[in-house]
Amino acid sequence: GRLVAGAAEGEERELEAALRPKNLDDFVGQQRVRRQLSLVLEAARLRGRTADHVLMSGPPGLGKTTLAMIIAGEMNAPLRISSGPAIQHAGDLAAILSSLTEGEVLFLDEIHRMSRPAEEMLYMAMEDFRVDIVVGKGAGATSIPLEIPPFTLVGATTRAGLLPGPLRDRFGFTGHLEFYSTEELELVLRRSALLLDMKVNSAGFTQIASRSRGTPRIANRLLRRVRDWALVGGLDQVDSRAASAALEMYEVDEKGLDRLDRSVLEALCRKFAGGPVGLSTLAIAVGEETETVETVAEPFLVREGLLGRTPRGRIAMPAAWEHLGLVPPPDSPG
Ligand code: ATP
Repeated sequence: GRLVAGAAEGEERELEAALRPKNLDDFVGQQRVRRQLSLVLEAARLRGRTADHVLMSGPPGLGKTTLAMIIAGEMNAPLRISSGPAIQHAGDLAAILSSLTEGEVLFLDEIHRMSRPAEEMLYMAMEDFRVDIVVGKGAGATSIPLEIPPFTLVGATTRAGLLPGPLRDRFGFTGHLEFYSTEELELVLRRSALLLDMKVNSAGFTQIASRSRGTPRIANRLLRRVRDWALVGGLDQVDSRAASAALEMYEVDEKGLDRLDRSVLEALCRKFAGGPVGLSTLAIAVGEETETVETVAEPFLVREGLLGRTPRGRIAMPAAWEHLGLVPPPDSPG
């Protein structure tokens, strides 16, 4: 079984890569960020300089990695990819920085999860294109300054607020990615269906888009599940009914909530009578890490008016009770 699962996973990753837009014009939605970014890049090109450092924030799957690749592409520069959790020692970062070539784009995903010493090294590198390498230990330790070629840092984080101020301030530009509208997701899906050689009618696209949690990565993933369904069922065109039947099977409900979203709402309503309940208590109740609940599930639940954040904790909104088919208690906080 493992071999097969491994092969399937490899195919998933390949498909995901194949569906990535390669330039700003193919990038759907995020009008504001796209315009701001295009200006930053154009100005850098006119000055003949590397582009300013860019920070992108937003929930997972909205296109941060894709934008980093597009930035490198538009600047005709190579791209290096790493992430905060992969950089635990300042030395890890020094190794990356000292091997950059001039103009290279360095993408650091989950930049808020870098260690403190690495973060401090990064400040200096971003500002002065220089790092201090400490050699030796104790009294004999010396620090050797090392010049690094100008580069563009593209940092990604699920929430800009997770970043320490000094780091945030060193980015020339911060783009906030928003959830996509159903219409925008339909455009993403149309493009992907074309690349996957899939036939889906208009209502079929709407059905998949409206279950995609405002997230292109999810839209593409659901499209691939619908594609499997159509293949096995011998359908040559996907309509709304086929799409919803396929997605019901994968436990994606008509609002696009997945299993994690629903278990957060269920816990909130059933175990805590609608709250208010603290985030960490809620996370323990669903058996997830606090950060996962806060950055993966919550933003969408808040946007959909299902969950509320109050100073005293999380509360279930009336729509949450309704969505779960439950009756709120008379003193429910929502
Ligand atoms: P994470 O932060 O979790 O890495 P991300 O925000 O970096 O997620 P990406 O990996 O860039 O997300 O995007 C996920 C998938 O969604 C990609 O395969 C890409 O094809 C698709 N995608 C994202 N944004 C867009 C867009 N604006 N237009 C078309 N496709 C998109």
